[in-house]
Amino acid sequence: MEMDSPSQCRPPHVVIFPLPLQGHINSMIKLAELLALAGFKLTFLNSHHNHERLIKFTNIVAYFKRYPGFELKTITDGLPLDHPRSGNWFLETYEEAIVMKIKQSFREMMINSNPPVDCVIADGFSGYAIDVANELGIPIIGFRTSSPRSFWVYYSITDIIKAGELPIRGSEDMDRLITTVPGMETYLRCRDLPSFCRKPDIEDSTVQLIVKQTRKSTQADALIFNTTDELDEPILSQIRTKCANIYPIGPLHAQINTRLKAKHGESFDQFSNTLREEDKSCIPWLDKQPNRSVIYVSFGSITSTSRDQLVELWYGLLNSKTKFLFVVRPDSVIGKDGEGEDFVKELMEKSKDRGYIVDWAPQEVVLNHQAVGGFLTHSGWNSTLESIVAGVPMVCWPYFADQQVTSRVVSTVWKIGLDMKDVSDRKIVEKMVNDVMVDQKEFVNSGTDMAKVINQCVSIGGSSSNNLDRLIEDIRMKRL
Ligand code: UDP
Repeated sequence: MEMDSPSQCRPPHVVIFPLPLQGHINSMIKLAELLALAGFKLTFLNSHHNHERLIKFTNIVAYFKRYPGFELKTITDGLPLDHPRSGNWFLETYEEAIVMKIKQSFREMMINSNPPVDCVIADGFSGYAIDVANELGIPIIGFRTSSPRSFWVYYSITDIIKAGELPIRGSEDMDRLITTVPGMETYLRCRDLPSFCRKPDIEDSTVQLIVKQTRKSTQADALIFNTTDELDEPILSQIRTKCANIYPIGPLHAQINTRLKAKHGESFDQFSNTLREEDKSCIPWLDKQPNRSVIYVSFGSITSTSRDQLVELWYGLLNSKTKFLFVVRPDSVIGKDGEGEDFVKELMEKSKDRGYIVDWAPQEVVLNHQAVGGFLTHSGWNSTLESIVAGVPMVCWPYFADQQVTSRVVSTVWKIGLDMKDVSDRKIVEKMVNDVMVDQKEFVNSGTDMAKVINQCVSIGGSSSNNLDRLIEDIRMKRL
């Protein structure tokens, strides 16, 4: 008889360890709460910097007290505390010495943990966590916070290069179909590859780093994806050929809402895991607007535009027939923090009757507001899922990384939006915004239909709900 089996003596102890980025924390803290709801002991590891921000802008400590055994712990992200961490700081600073620092702290925490750790769920981008877990004999699951399709493209880059389909030979080459990503042969063009593939030097260190991390993550005991079978099954079955045990348990924000509602009823309390201060004044403004009359514009937590790009987007919106709610972070425009905001505020002054601007919005609430009829988005994976669940059609203006893949899938595979990729032209912006908001082309209906299907996946008996139950049981029964 296994005397120390968590199923018999104590609840399983799971450590969840995201990358120190908004989009990664968002989905992983939702999974943490889902496992806490199942009665697990949970340790959520955040960087010191992000922990401070969560304490400042949210009720994180008070909120998670409701789960006995839920512990928030901090770990270094390798940088000094006064580093500004703005824009794309993570990839810019990701180097061996920093990784070693984090790995060492993580290893010490795992060794000294009491109770012992039964399972680690680490960001799929943290290959070193796999090494530590393997060394210490702890089961490890990789959590991929971006879409399975972008994961699969990253995984296939080595084959794309071998087949001579990369590097891209110039702008005239951008619409060429890529034939070496199994399952995506009919729609993936050069311009839809992750942005890093555009570098003339395909052996560039960023590309190699991402390929290496992606391939390494298949060495974990299992992989979790924030998606559903219904959205991504053709590609999930391709990924299963590299890592047999996959849990598609998303969209996690919908999954947690469904389970909280089942437990506490309609008026359940929800944790908003934001690293910035939300400006809720946009909600009373939205309340005054007619149904589906406003387009919500937000490019996530990292994207920075040039002034010229912003001007084009701005005038496109202005010339369209639609009102807009625009998120402009202080570091949204390339240049010094704050400069961009002043610049946008100047533009805003000129168009007070047409739009509303905030530094940071309560995005899930906004997307579910009846006044919002469209989303001009950078196609970040969390934003895309939030839009799908709310049934809001998208105009995609992808910026970097996996976003190029996702915007293509939104427009061509799921047909719930338009892809403006590589264009920042006020006329095109105006046309696409009007197509979504005024003419309400067929993808508006497809969006509503898809929302119904995806919301079903997280309800009892739905595919993602079943997969989450399977994950919970596999951890509990030590089946990893
Ligand atoms: N978000 C938010 N308020 C904003 C803009 C974004 O709460 O004003 C949240 C959004 O709901 C999403 C996350 O920030 O969950 C951004 O993640 P995503 O994967 O879309 O993009 P990233 O920031 O990683 O590029």
